[in-house]
Amino acid sequence: MSLESAALARVKPSATMAADAKARELKAQGRDIISLAAGEPDFDTPDNIKDAAIRAIRDGKTKYTNVDGIPELKAAICAKFARENGLAYKPGQINVSPGGKPVIWNAMIATLNPGDEVVIPAPYWVSYPDMVALAGGTPRAIMTEAPSFKVRPEQLEAAITPRTRWLILNSPSNPSGAAYTKAELRALADVLLKHPQVWILTDDMYEHLVFGDFAFFTIAQVEPALYERTLTMNGVSKAYAMTGWRIGYAGGPEPLIKAMAKVESQTTSNPCSISQWAAVEALSGPQDFIKPNARKFEERRDLVVSMLNQARGIRCPTPEGAFYVYPSVEGLIGKKAPSGKVIGSDEDFAVELLEAEGVSVVFGAAFGLSPFFRISYATSNANLEEACSRIQRFCASLG
Ligand SMILES: *Cc1c(COP(=O)(O)O)cnc(C)c1O
Repeated sequence: MSLESAALARVKPSATMAADAKARELKAQGRDIISLAAGEPDFDTPDNIKDAAIRAIRDGKTKYTNVDGIPELKAAICAKFARENGLAYKPGQINVSPGGKPVIWNAMIATLNPGDEVVIPAPYWVSYPDMVALAGGTPRAIMTEAPSFKVRPEQLEAAITPRTRWLILNSPSNPSGAAYTKAELRALADVLLKHPQVWILTDDMYEHLVFGDFAFFTIAQVEPALYERTLTMNGVSKAYAMTGWRIGYAGGPEPLIKAMAKVESQTTSNPCSISQWAAVEALSGPQDFIKPNARKFEERRDLVVSMLNQARGIRCPTPEGAFYVYPSVEGLIGKKAPSGKVIGSDEDFAVELLEAEGVSVVFGAAFGLSPFFRISYATSNANLEEACSRIQRFCASLG
């Protein structure tokens, strides 16, 4: 008999975490490795947020809390949704979980029955299809195309069946950086209005990382008629460099929020009390570092896009947001690496690049769309310049 349940056997470990772990391991062996695999900001959590956590510890805020979040944090989240997204949620419509990832998991395990389908545009964040499968549902990918990597309304229409329970939208996207304009969301909303059985989970983790004059919108704001079946998910991990603190949240219809709290009550209980107080400060304190920070990421995007497009055989679209690019390696398939191996896939490309030049990236198959790879540019300009030069050298060396 297999140790793993049938549901777990359908799931793969996170490829991004595996790539990052491999890079750390090689580094520990003394190899000169630049990892562009990790999906987290490279700046430190701001001091005002750290201070709030230290205060919480000193004040004894170290016990169990409400299962799905302290009232102070729910109030801060309601204020955030009103201020930044024009969305009116009451505290009873807010879920707080130990990270954005658990918010999604709680929503899926709370609602999916075997045979229920979840539509997920590819390339997608690695965890969506696996969480859906683990919760007993069936992921249905929609293949988008470079350079936009955005799902078109007719593709969405074609993917919806009577069994479709959810659509998962992620804008700006991890891994492509693509972000939907208001008009593009409007067009998707028109399709969704025709299918009342479909709920929408919108993952807005990167809302503050948009570039140029791009204006961020979330779908419940664009089409208020979808508010009653939309879970608007967000978190402090990326915007405030708080990945290790584990706080994610969502606003949605009260019955769904209640169901998610029921899951938490029997599994994780509350998110870390200290982190919740830190998140209150993150959402309510000074926000002035967010814009300059986005500008820094925009500079890095421009650097990486320009250097990658100078590499032989690579085509790199210019994304609207997040801190990722998703270049194509189509032009390198069939070429021979220095090791003698022929590059037959994006996975081969990533393996040979790490071997030959010590640059760690994540291959596109992990995100459901090949032949591409993902670079996280949340690292210093010096690191990025060095890594991109190595990629250029690697591509030039392919025979
Ligand atoms: C990082 C990330 C999350 C969640 O992060 P947590 O660390 O669990 O808060 C969710 N969605 C996307 C697309 C992400 O990149």
